[in-house]
Amino acid sequence: MNTEIVHPTDMEIVLLYPCPKCGKKVPAIAPLEPENIKCTYCDHRFVAAPADEQDLDFLRLITANGRILINNNFFKG
Ligand SMILES: [Zn+2]
Repeated sequence: MNTEIVHPTDMEIVLLYPCPKCGKKVPAIAPLEPENIKCTYCDHRFVAAPADEQDLDFLRLITANGRILINNNFFKG
């Protein structure tokens, strides 16, 4: 078993879009343009509103590209 622990070096934001047909939440990596996505539950297609690129950059900045989200207490004895 490989016990090498790898930490992330970057992050993506996954947004959940409620399907207008079935209401289930469909995950999509934050699109920068309106994106046509297909519901993974009922196959209905709809357009996901885009994310703001500057706001995504801000989240990456304040989380050091996700590195501060790691639970370091997990690795302590
Ligand atoms: Zn659906």
